[in-house]
Amino acid sequence: NAVKIARAATGRPGVVVFDHAYHGRTMMTLAMTAKEVPYRAGFGPFPGEVHRAPYAYPLRWPGGAEHCAEEALAELEALLRRVGPDTVAAIVVEPLQGEGGFVVPAPGFLAGVQRMARRHGIVLVADEVQAGMGRTGTMFASEQEGIVPDLVCTAKALGGGLPLAAVTGRAELMEAVAPGGLGGTYAGNPVACAAALGVLEMLRDGGLLERARLIERTVRARLEPLAAQVPAIAEVRGRGAMMALEFVRPGTLEPDAELARAVAARCHAEGVVALVCGSFGNVVRLLPPLVIPDDLLDEGLGVLADAIRGACGGAA
Ligand SMILES: *Cc1c(COP(=O)(O)O)cnc(C)c1O
Repeated sequence: NAVKIARAATGRPGVVVFDHAYHGRTMMTLAMTAKEVPYRAGFGPFPGEVHRAPYAYPLRWPGGAEHCAEEALAELEALLRRVGPDTVAAIVVEPLQGEGGFVVPAPGFLAGVQRMARRHGIVLVADEVQAGMGRTGTMFASEQEGIVPDLVCTAKALGGGLPLAAVTGRAELMEAVAPGGLGGTYAGNPVACAAALGVLEMLRDGGLLERARLIERTVRARLEPLAAQVPAIAEVRGRGAMMALEFVRPGTLEPDAELARAVAARCHAEGVVALVCGSFGNVVRLLPPLVIPDDLLDEGLGVLADAIRGACGGAA
């Protein structure tokens, strides 16, 4: 729907997305999603006019983390020049990538993306489906990048477990779509909307945002010393209650998906759900509920630490 709104508002066809992006499973969002297996494989052809630029992924940036934002922005600029910036309706970006590996963009990258979008009259869409609704310690992950997107997509936590998704934006963009142009059989389901109002009420007093930031401090205090001892952990990263560990072959940046799977399997065996993500399948992500009690978080982190030590064998 964000793409439809941006196209209606600009009269332009193009959509720019990024490497490692996940935007969903409909045909249009599959065209925008980066990962082939299991999401895209066998389902093509996909809608056209989707262009992909590198995401400012500091750990894996060829020129090094310190040049990451600047060089990624130069690549985006080059892409826009190539396709013609006045053919692009929207730039769609996750302010902190989810399925792609909980990638926190290099500082300044998203502010640069916003400047470029504004300069060329392109609608900036933040996909906050996974990172939004308090997960990263602010209502929206975009806030921590100092950007104000033109359209924001939310879902997942928005409905507090009931199925609901939303596109929010300024009236002059939203009203570019004729009445009846958006909608659907299940759109605006009243029970799911009531649940979302409850979620917003709970988020409003700020207690849950503070909780998410506390979860980050607890996770870092526990996992950063461990990462310093375990050479297979390349990075502990994320924000708020959206934290992850990236696994590599020690001494290299070669992704170790097998180790990530082994760690997650050991956690599952002990009753802790940790999910693997990342374009290379080598990232273990933690998505604890914002309401998790301290003792349960501690216990879960203990299970994770043991799983890492066990899966690394002698190396840990
Ligand atoms: C979950 C998610 C979506 C929606 O994905 P579906 O699988 O289509 O429900 C969109 N964007 C992001 C960033 C997500 O994490």
